[in-house]
Amino acid sequence: MEHLAIMKKGYIEKILSGEKKIESRFSMNKITPFHAISAGDKVYMQEVGKEVTATFEVERVLFFDNLSENKIEELRTEYGKDICAEETFWGLKKHSKYATLIYIKNPVKITPFKINKSDRSAFKTVNSVKDDLVITKRTIIKHPHDCENGKHYFVFDGNTHCQFCGAEFLHSATMKQKPDYQTIKGIIKHSMWNDEWLNVELDNVAKNKLPKIKRANIRSILNKSIRVCQPNDGRQTPYYGNPVFYAQHGLGCCCRKCLEKFYAIPKNAVLSDEELDYFTDLIEAYLKEKV
Ligand SMILES: [Zn+2]
Ligand SMILES: [Zn+2]
Repeated sequence: MEHLAIMKKGYIEKILSGEKKIESRFSMNKITPFHAISAGDKVYMQEVGKEVTATFEVERVLFFDNLSENKIEELRTEYGKDICAEETFWGLKKHSKYATLIYIKNPVKITPFKINKSDRSAFKTVNSVKDDLVITKRTIIKHPHDCENGKHYFVFDGNTHCQFCGAEFLHSATMKQKPDYQTIKGIIKHSMWNDEWLNVELDNVAKNKLPKIKRANIRSILNKSIRVCQPNDGRQTPYYGNPVFYAQHGLGCCCRKCLEKFYAIPKNAVLSDEELDYFTDLIEAYLKEKV
């Protein structure tokens, strides 16, 4: 396994200089790295809010459970010098129940890279840090169109038509009736940009997230991004890291401009619960197809 350790300022330097010989993780609950790390594993280190800048190998690991304040004092006496932590650290950790002590081998600086991590966990265990936590970006063409073959780039200025050939979007009446996912897919084929998003392969981070997404997650993303028109409308839905974003771009529910263009919902209207449910259904259908 590989691991990503989020480090407080200054500790990566202490590890690289050899002053800090043990990386320790204390927790109230049985969470990684407790019994999730072993000798030979690789740990990537990232200072809070920065890029990954260094790694080390795991020489060996010690696990402790059923901890008490006294036991933690004993650990501090025995390993404190090599853990090299500040007084405040021990104060914060004195009620912990679990501890993992990781002996550091061959710490080195690496070419920095950025992680795509959406949660706040301070330690993550994955098969591969680079494959599972770093996004592989694709080339996104801005206004794709192939008008001769019936694939347009639609814009809205009172009515919906192709920016390049002027062809009218002929499905507004059907779209207004909020048809099911398969019907939408058939219609959206005429909009090259959206069709690409529906069919493109997910990035690795989005792929990993796919099986874990619940209806409530979709609903909450929609609630934040399109329930009311955002000040940054058109830019609020990212392109990477979550299959819900792909579905939103594909189905034209990424921003209020697109809702107006394809579903004839005025930009200033607040979406009703029924409307949010409807778009949640569509996205759910997309996710089911991708799993
Ligand atoms: Zn066209
Ligand atoms: Zn949009």
